[in-house]
Amino acid sequence: MKYYITTSIPYANAFPHIGFALEIVQADVLARYNREGGKEVFFLTGTDEHGLKIKKAAEEKGLSAKEFTDQVSGKFRELCSVLNISNTDFIRTTDEKRHKPAVEEIWEKMVESGDIYKRKYKGYYCSGCEAFVTEKDLVDGKCPNHQKEPEFIEEENYFFRLSKYLPELKKRMVRIIPESRKKEVLGYIKNGIEDVSFSRSKDKYFGFEVPQDPSQYLYVWADALLNYVSGIGYSFDKAKFNFFWPADVHCIGKDILKFHALIWPAMLLSLGLEMPKSIFVHGFITSEGKKMSKSLGNVVDPFEIIEKYGSDALRYYLLREIPSAEDGDFSIERFKKRYDTELASGIGNLVSRVEALKKKTGFGKTPSGIIKKEVKKAELKRNKAVESFKFGEALKSIWELISFCDKYIEENRPWEGGDNADQTVSDLNFAVDKIGELVSIFLPESSEKIKNRQTPLFPRI
Ligand SMILES: [Zn+2]
Repeated sequence: MKYYITTSIPYANAFPHIGFALEIVQADVLARYNREGGKEVFFLTGTDEHGLKIKKAAEEKGLSAKEFTDQVSGKFRELCSVLNISNTDFIRTTDEKRHKPAVEEIWEKMVESGDIYKRKYKGYYCSGCEAFVTEKDLVDGKCPNHQKEPEFIEEENYFFRLSKYLPELKKRMVRIIPESRKKEVLGYIKNGIEDVSFSRSKDKYFGFEVPQDPSQYLYVWADALLNYVSGIGYSFDKAKFNFFWPADVHCIGKDILKFHALIWPAMLLSLGLEMPKSIFVHGFITSEGKKMSKSLGNVVDPFEIIEKYGSDALRYYLLREIPSAEDGDFSIERFKKRYDTELASGIGNLVSRVEALKKKTGFGKTPSGIIKKEVKKAELKRNKAVESFKFGEALKSIWELISFCDKYIEENRPWEGGDNADQTVSDLNFAVDKIGELVSIFLPESSEKIKNRQTPLFPRI
C-alpha cells in the first residue's frame, strides 16, 4: 500500500511563518501515521519560486531572483529540519531537471488537446494573490485578502479551458475535508466558472517561458500545481510516478481551495490523470487574537519558539490548540500554560515519576488487564481521530491515558512498597512505553526520549 501526501508549496518571497509550520506539522502527522501503519509513504513539500511577488521581493533586497529564492527556500528546508518533518523530498519550482521538463511536457499535451488557447484579456489582477480577480471577488473594490485595489491589465494571454471541464467536475468532485468547505467550491461553480489565464506577458512577470512562445511567461499557478506530479517523477521516473499517483491528500490553506478543488482537477482531467483522493484544508492562525502583520509587530517566528522551547513544544501547541480545520490563535500565554501543565507537568512529570518509582520496586511483571485496556482505549481513540484529521482530539486521548496513570499512582501508592507495588510500577512502565509509541507521530523527539527514558522531557520554564 502506498500513501502520497503533499503540502502546498509556499511562495518563496518571505521567510516561513507559523501558518506554514501548522500545515507541514499536520502533514507530517499524517505521513508518520501511515508509515506506522506499514504503508509506503511519499511526503512532498517544497517552494514556489515564480511570479511577480518573487521578482519584486528580490529587487527590494538588491538580489537576483535566484540568489533570493536560494536563501528563502533554504530557510524552508531549515524549518523542515528543526521541526523534525519527515518529508521524502523537497521540490523547487525553479528546478530545471525535475520540474521544468514536466511543466513543458504537460503544457504541450494541453495545447495538443485544445485546452490552451490564446485570447485578449481585460480585467483585474491582484499581485498579492498572484491571481486574476473578478468584480465578484472584490469587497468595496478591494481584494479582501490584501485590502488593496487590484491593478487593471489588458494583454493577450494563453487561457486554459477550465469551463470545458465544469460538467465533469460537478459530477465527481474531489473529497474535501472538512465537509463544510465543499459548499464554498459549489458556490464557485454555481456563480459560473470562466476559463483561466495561464500566462502573462513577459515584461510584467517572472517564470518559465511558455514553450514555443518566448514572449510569454507561464502564470505561476499553471506551473506551481504541477509540482505535485513533477516531484514524484512525472518526467524522469514513470514507474515511481505511476506507483504514487494519485495523491492521497493535498494539505492546503483555505485561501487556495479554488485552485486545488477546481483548476487542479480540471488540469488532471485534461491530462487524463486521476484526481487526488482528498484535499485537507486548514484555517489561518492569528497572533494574540489579531491578524499577523509586520506593522503590528505580532508576527510569530517559528524558529524563535523552537529555539526557546524545543520543536515538540511547538508541534504540540499547533496540533492541540489550533482546531485542525478551522482558524486558531497563537497566544504566548496559552502556549506557556499548555507547556507547563500538559508537557512539563503532564507527560514529562509522569515519565520522571515512573523512573523514580522503578528505582524503589521491581517492574518485571506482566502488565495487568486494567492498564492494557486503558492503553487500547487511547490507541483506538487516537487512530480514529487521526483518520478524521482531528489531531487535537488524538492528542487528548493520549493525555487521558496520562491522567489515568497519574490517578493510578495516587490510588495504589506504590512508593509505600505494599504487596501490589511491583505490579503497579510494572503497569506504569508498560503504559509509559506505550505513551512513547503513541506520541511518536506527533512528538517524534519526545518519543525517542521516552524510549531511552531520557528525563526530563520538557524542562520547566
Ligand atoms: Zn489579493
